[in-house]
Amino acid sequence: MQNKVIKEIICPKCSQVTQGKLYTSINATNHPHLRNEILEENLFRWRCHSCGHEVMLSYPMLYNDMKKRFMIYLIPGVDRFQLADSELEEEFANLKGIRKRLAPDFNTFREKLFIFENGLDDMAVEMTKLAISQSVARKLDIREVTEGYLSMYDRESNTMGFTFLIGIEKEPYIQSVRLEIYSKSLAIVDDLAEKDRALKGFLTIDREWAKNILYRYKRKKIEFRTAREAAKAESKS
Ligand SMILES: [Zn+2]
Repeated sequence: MQNKVIKEIICPKCSQVTQGKLYTSINATNHPHLRNEILEENLFRWRCHSCGHEVMLSYPMLYNDMKKRFMIYLIPGVDRFQLADSELEEEFANLKGIRKRLAPDFNTFREKLFIFENGLDDMAVEMTKLAISQSVARKLDIREVTEGYLSMYDRESNTMGFTFLIGIEKEPYIQSVRLEIYSKSLAIVDDLAEKDRALKGFLTIDREWAKNILYRYKRKKIEFRTAREAAKAESKS
């Protein structure tokens, strides 16, 4: 599975037409060089033959790594939780247990790739990132830190690192954490996101999703405490 489309693109600077190669889907297992091309952003770069003007093209691209069993659908600006494409589902019906994700922008796409290639669970990574972003916000005494990416993972030193983008200037701020917090997040996800794991189609697993799980986790803890106190009160009376 690898689809290339040749398109005539009009240069926004000199109006000359140059052909552009657009990859609508990529199979990383069979074409590993394309993986590197994407990460270096070369795949989306278009250059005018006439005046040399360069633009980054933005279009949907489906990335498939069969060996590591994940697919990422980069759809610029996509704003939905679930995308169930019946044609795609049918094409890959025999492939079970594949993680399928939506990515609304290139940074998210790159982060998902990094997570899955390192054998991590992106749901647990989002939970960890949410928790760490809150403690970074407290530390820097700002209201919230909403943007950040997993940028380092090292099993040997038992750490993972996030790069957060702070303020309007998007100043990078790197925070590393011990892997225990990731393990704890994984346990929460295993407990509370069972339904989401079974969902069909491509899913958006992001900060909003993590906030929702965290909310459910806190509510469950309160319910548990209330039930325990009620039981205690009953045994006293
Ligand atoms: Zn041009």
